[in-house]
Amino acid sequence: MADRPVSGSELAPELEAAAAEIAGSERGFHRPPPGLDAAGQAAVRRRALDLATGSGPLTAIGSYALDGERASTQNCENFIGAAQVPMGVAGPVHVRGSEIDGTVCVPMATTEGALLASVNRGCRAITAAGGATVFVEDVGMTRAPVFRTTGIEDTRRLIEWLEANEERIRAKAQETSRYLKLLEIRPSVVGSTVFLRFRFATGDAMGMNMVTIACDRLVSELIEPETGAQCVALSGNYCVDKKPSAVNYQLGRGKRIHAEVVLDETTVRKVLKSEAKALQDVAYRKNLLGSVAAGALAFNAQFANVLAAVFVACGQDLAHVVEGAMGVASFEAREDGSVYASVYMPDCPLAAIGGGTGLDTQREALEVMGVRPNAERPGAAVRRLAEIVGAVVLAGELSLTAAFTSRDLARAHERLGRSSAARAG
Ligand code: NAP
Repeated sequence: MADRPVSGSELAPELEAAAAEIAGSERGFHRPPPGLDAAGQAAVRRRALDLATGSGPLTAIGSYALDGERASTQNCENFIGAAQVPMGVAGPVHVRGSEIDGTVCVPMATTEGALLASVNRGCRAITAAGGATVFVEDVGMTRAPVFRTTGIEDTRRLIEWLEANEERIRAKAQETSRYLKLLEIRPSVVGSTVFLRFRFATGDAMGMNMVTIACDRLVSELIEPETGAQCVALSGNYCVDKKPSAVNYQLGRGKRIHAEVVLDETTVRKVLKSEAKALQDVAYRKNLLGSVAAGALAFNAQFANVLAAVFVACGQDLAHVVEGAMGVASFEAREDGSVYASVYMPDCPLAAIGGGTGLDTQREALEVMGVRPNAERPGAAVRRLAEIVGAVVLAGELSLTAAFTSRDLARAHERLGRSSAARAG
């Protein structure tokens, strides 16, 4: 129980009693009194938390605009409210891709002061240059169950069986969703352990639930009964979900995004307050040599920063930032004083439907960017999102790299990112 006085309750007496019971027992937050809607359950849980921890009434957490019924049944168990993250807008930025050729505004949610201002400056430079050219490869979503065999011969039989039964496997997997297409099965063997990395196209969805359901069906209805191989885990970490990895870097996962722009000397000087050779030198020594020295898989300045802010705003799976953060930002000074800049993002899982994209604020943010799934063209909406993400990540690289060349990074953070309260503290 709380070691300091708790606030008064606005709950009806029977709910106050239920909150006290939850707070004082092992009953757990997942079982509030029956018959309450999501908002009522959340109120009981907040009150129980207050009683148990002395946190106060949690009125900020309890003030939210999203649909609690939906959020509590599809997105978050033990629902108590919402964490609110400030949202700003970057852009407009001109994106030239297959799904968009024009300017777009990009909602980004972050607590890092200076991030929006930085990305915004990069957007201005890109738009002044006529836009970022973006090319997106739809690599697909992967899931890699891990199997135990008795050894090499058994493993060879399993792999031969897969080759001989590919069409049956494809048909069985594709029964589980209207939008799933099996693209590849890639085996990898370590002694008596076999990983089968299944790769699927998943339409406008990021696809993790879809591919997990399909793999479960394949394992239990075809692979185990027909080969005798035993599935040890439906995910064998060779997928690779939510971990930075060489295999995803090499083979790609989700969307593989390429974006580039050429900035002329005037734009570099006036918008970025920099010059081409200085940008190239920072990129070479920081993004390349620095990351080699550190053994990093991210040869860039701040992919993660931009992705995290776009992911929060747009309802993407936040843990996928660890994958999207891998990749290369390169700068090449050209003879005429211009600079060629590019980003390469081999592993960027994205969604225009499913997961958190259906939450109210996140749906609105996607709407701002014109990301609207269309049943006639599945996959087009998420490609549009990927093209926008490529451009805005490039914008972040341009601006931050320029800030290093002009030694403006600390000054910008001091000016925009530090509150007087934190300084006083
Ligand atoms: P999902 O919301 O589970 O599935 C997408 C749904 O959208 C499917 O029901 C699909 O139809 C439907 N759909 C309608 N129009 C579509 C279109 N144009 N393109 C694609 N699908 C369309 O989403 P998911 O992307 O598979 O999974 C995302 C969720 O998985 C996130 O919440 C994420 O956090 C979570 N996740 C799960 C795992 C796991 O291991 N299970 C791992 C990581 C993350 P059908 O009914 O025909 O398929």
